[in-house]
Amino acid sequence: MKQSGRSYNSYFFFIILLAGLIFVLTQIKSYSEEYTRSELIQDMEEDNIEEMYVIPNEESPTGYLEVTLKSGVDKKLYATDITKLEDLVREYGYDPVVENVKKDSWILTTLIPLIVVIIVVMFLFMMMSAQNSGGGAAAKMMNFGKSRAKMTSGDKNVTFDKVAGLREEKEELEEIVDFLKEPGRFTRVGARIPKGVLLEGPPGTGKTLLAKAVAGEAGVPFFSISGSDFVEMYVGVGASRVRDLFEEAKKNAPCIVFIDEIDAVARRRGTGMGGGHDEREQTLNQLLVEMDGFGVNEGIIVMAATNRVDILDPAIMRPGRFDRKVAVGVPDVGGREEILKVHSQNKPLADNVDLEQIARTTAGFTGADLENLLNEAAIIAAKKDKVYLSQEDIKKAFVKVGIGAEKRSRIISSKEKEITAYHEAGHAILFHVLPDVGPVYAVSIIPTGNGAAGYTMPLPERDEMFMTKGRMLQDIMVSLGGRIAEEIIFKDITTGASSDIKKATKEARRMVTRYGMSDNIGVICYDDDDDEVFIGRDLAHAKTHSEVISGEIDREVKKIIDDCYAKAKEIILQHREVLNKCAGLLLEKEKISREEFEALFDRENSSDISGVEALL
Ligand code: ADP
Ligand code: ZN
Repeated sequence: MKQSGRSYNSYFFFIILLAGLIFVLTQIKSYSEEYTRSELIQDMEEDNIEEMYVIPNEESPTGYLEVTLKSGVDKKLYATDITKLEDLVREYGYDPVVENVKKDSWILTTLIPLIVVIIVVMFLFMMMSAQNSGGGAAAKMMNFGKSRAKMTSGDKNVTFDKVAGLREEKEELEEIVDFLKEPGRFTRVGARIPKGVLLEGPPGTGKTLLAKAVAGEAGVPFFSISGSDFVEMYVGVGASRVRDLFEEAKKNAPCIVFIDEIDAVARRRGTGMGGGHDEREQTLNQLLVEMDGFGVNEGIIVMAATNRVDILDPAIMRPGRFDRKVAVGVPDVGGREEILKVHSQNKPLADNVDLEQIARTTAGFTGADLENLLNEAAIIAAKKDKVYLSQEDIKKAFVKVGIGAEKRSRIISSKEKEITAYHEAGHAILFHVLPDVGPVYAVSIIPTGNGAAGYTMPLPERDEMFMTKGRMLQDIMVSLGGRIAEEIIFKDITTGASSDIKKATKEARRMVTRYGMSDNIGVICYDDDDDEVFIGRDLAHAKTHSEVISGEIDREVKKIIDDCYAKAKEIILQHREVLNKCAGLLLEKEKISREEFEALFDRENSSDISGVEALL
């Protein structure tokens, strides 16, 4: 209905436009016959003239002579002094009709241009309105500065129930939901609610889903836009889109503004080769201005997602901007099972389907991968005309989806998993036992997506001005712990520890060449590099020491590493029981918390830590 109304309108305008054009053209045609003074005289002499009008202008001596020839042609002759022209024709015996103000002239000079302008304006207006309801390419041009944000008003269907796993993440966001629901409760006591929340994690882990669920739980509108939408090739467009987006959001507060892939706009400023980043910087600046601009408790909460927090401009993390960071990780076994449950809700499962077993075999899968897996299984079942999904269907889907997922996260064999579990347990034990490092915040064998098979996370680093020699040695020992555990358990070693080894070696070398911490080299700096890397620097860099010293440095580095290795191995051997238990627990749960990890030591038959002190 609406559609036909619009096309009717555009026909209407088009016809007016055409009519107007024809009108103007005919007017111009009938009056534009050039006529010169000598032609006029000639026509008068040859008696070709039917009638004549003198049309003076009201406010000036100018005017024109309108002549109709006997042949029917109209001619026109303008004059700077119309009375002189009048005198001339009278000399030839003509008696022209003198009209005061001829309507034609007014139409020609005022009305027609006015009509043309009106028509053009209307035509443009029409194109713009056609665009708003999704017009063509020409119409698209009109929409540069619009925000493109999609608004879904508080989709009640997406709530925290739909977000499986991610317990801690949901807990952290609970507070924001409360604020959006009852801002008064917070403002009353002067609480400052974060303006921005940065969701960080690999793609497909449910960041968008979480943001939607926050809006859904609170029942507020949800605006979503992707960072890449801001970055157009035309300068200034991104900034105006940001402005537009926030204007819209302010009208709809309280609400959630969700910016996906924020790294597209919020990349560190002033990096990259050459120029060409003006547009992005402008957009980022505008975003910061907007975020600074609205009051703390105005009810707009900006949530943004990225998987590259390392390349973000630090400016966006300042207080009053994205001052809350929520890490959204790849799910562990338990999380995967929950996600499978959520996504199998609308899919009838056969009795033989074992979601727990599927969760076990899909290490490294994200929520999106798992959803995809069940969907593929449903398609396979439907193709066979079945009304239930069987375990068999899911296995087939796994083969299909697995190939895609493998590209991103690698599917891990159980042997690899076991090795990783012992490797991480080795790191973790040293973190825990050694006095100056740790404590361990979490141990995980979930692949991280950037190549690591697992990780052991110490609590955020203490801010210390100096590193002590002891601490550095302990760092090296922790780094070596993974490899040592592999060696102890499997009597064979893998290539998985290469980055650990590199890290340990670097640290040892710095101790020798920079900090004067070795016995034989002494307190001399053999390393005057700053860590900046410039092309050609290494080539131009002159060695500050002789080959002899070089050899000695290498020997010292090796000595430090060898010592650390031996001591670390001894410690791990002392805690062999914990090593086994920790690896076992990791294989079972994939990720264990600090409490779970430390509990392993409590149950240990108190092999005391004083042994370690002696070792160091
Ligand atoms: P991201 O924004 O992190 O890239 P999305 O939120 O777009 O990921 O997730 C894509 C899809 O994967 C979701 O629509 C949902 O179906 C599924 N999904 C991801 N994580 C979860 C989860 N924790 N619980 C349930 N479904 C999930
Ligand atoms: Zn390691």
